[in-house]
Amino acid sequence: MYRILSECGAQIRTSLEGIDYFIAEGGRAFRTILDLLKELLKFQVLNQQEIKYFSAIILQCKQHLRADFKIHISPDSKVADHCQTFALSDSLHPEFAVTCQHHHDLVCVTCEQMKDVLSSLMKTIQCSSNHGLTDSLRDLQSKLQNAMQGITNVKRHLIRCRNQNLISLTRYNITKCF
Ligand SMILES: [Zn+2]
Ligand SMILES: [Zn+2]
Repeated sequence: MYRILSECGAQIRTSLEGIDYFIAEGGRAFRTILDLLKELLKFQVLNQQEIKYFSAIILQCKQHLRADFKIHISPDSKVADHCQTFALSDSLHPEFAVTCQHHHDLVCVTCEQMKDVLSSLMKTIQCSSNHGLTDSLRDLQSKLQNAMQGITNVKRHLIRCRNQNLISLTRYNITKCF
């Protein structure tokens, strides 16, 4: 019950009108992870040096999504994380999927680091929880899961935006032809 109260406590409502909700959610996700690292230090699950290392990578990933990621998205990218065709294809329904005509044989170091750091943080929390599961660690685990989902949503959103721009450009070119 205390956990529900702490999650649903009174909050200051800020106007988000005009702000991109997915980007706002992504910013919140990164802030949550940085706060979570402080908590893990407090619980002595991670030491100061590990916190410094994880924080640096998290900030680098945040910067990557803000700037480079958008530039690298392409329909024929050899990096699976940046491939528009791959990302927009439905993995369950082949009628909504397009097979890439290229191999995903390259990796983006930052995207890989982001996945590694998040999964290693999750494993660390789970292992610490196993040695006497505390409510606080369980909360951190659920916060991390939400933050991970938030980051995935931003990546999806950025790829969809890129696709929308491409569609608008195609429509403009068709109109110009007429
Ligand atoms: Zn591809
Ligand atoms: Zn990347």
